Amino acid sequence: MPALSQLAPQPRLVAAARPGHVVLGVNNFCNLRCVMCDVGTGNAETNFGANLMGAQTRSMPLELFHTIADDMAAFCPDARMGFAFTEPLAWKPLGDALAYASSLGLYTTVTTNGLLLPKRAAELVAGGCRGLFVSLDGPAALHDQIRRHHGSFARAVEGIKAVAALPNPPEISVFCTISEYNVGHLKTFLKDISDLPLKLVGLIHNNFVTPALANEHNALYGQAYPATASNSFQSDPTSIDVARLAAELTDIKGSIWPFKVTIQPDLVSESDLDIYYHHPSQFVGRRCHDAFRILMVDADGESVPVHGRCYRFAIANVRDVGLEGIWKHSSIEALREKLSEAGGLLPACSRCCGGFGT
Ligand code: SF4
Ligand code: SF4
Repeated sequence: MPALSQLAPQPRLVAAARPGHVVLGVNNFCNLRCVMCDVGTGNAETNFGANLMGAQTRSMPLELFHTIADDMAAFCPDARMGFAFTEPLAWKPLGDALAYASSLGLYTTVTTNGLLLPKRAAELVAGGCRGLFVSLDGPAALHDQIRRHHGSFARAVEGIKAVAALPNPPEISVFCTISEYNVGHLKTFLKDISDLPLKLVGLIHNNFVTPALANEHNALYGQAYPATASNSFQSDPTSIDVARLAAELTDIKGSIWPFKVTIQPDLVSESDLDIYYHHPSQFVGRRCHDAFRILMVDADGESVPVHGRCYRFAIANVRDVGLEGIWKHSSIEALREKLSEAGGLLPACSRCCGGFGT
């Protein structure tokens, strides 16, 4: 794994003519308070927190959504529309929006904590959602503790079953963020959800920025692309017992499951995990692909660079320039150029999911 100073120049990436994903932040609030997330800990000042909670509009107006969907159908009809932030099931027009997108032939996915899934299962399926991604963080009691809401695991599971029981349900996947709280409980968790109709379970090494890494980044790039600490306030990824995690992930990988299990990024050995969690200034990937294939729009219609985990700077409003105007905007082009100049990644990209590519 290359250290910051050792990243070899990568062949220059060129942005695709059109994005492959359009990520929507349809509201600026969440109904859970997860300990490993800036939203859950109320850290609205971080890049991640502000990208998810910084919109002035609490909920995206349906009229703005229609504008975006129409624009997608015209400019990038093959892109996937991801209702991802901050908690789309707490957005009242979701069912109507899904149905509208489907009527335009768009492929839609919904990412949720599952708390409202039993209530909204029918409209999600009726709206033609194609992929449902539910966040679960461990066996029931542990999940509820991490998510600080008693009964949240049971509600998500009830919702998954309700969705799966309807005609033409979306493919359902579960994503679990690894933290110091659930290491040692991951295999039990997978066993506990083995009877659910899941296509995939992703175990995600938490994305984070430590204060030291943010400082290191800002000394070089802070002017244009300021970094902030992130997802390290009420959980401490650097405290993870990597020996225990390596043993557990190895065991999980060697076991047979009724669904596909992925580890993202695919780091399992103690030495790789030591680098990931204890030496965050060392890259584990070679470059960011996301800046060349994803765009995000928040509840105000403002473009957020790439997606929720990226740096934060003003770009443009989709009402003024459309999706094509955002995709080709000079500020986004400048970020892509800077990434290429730097060899593929900037320092604070090191533990962002966008930075795990080869
Ligand atoms: S992890 Fe998801 S559900 Fe939890 S507080 Fe953050 S945005 Fe909300
Ligand atoms: S890896 Fe990509 S998406 Fe992530 S912070 Fe860096 S530029 Fe942004």
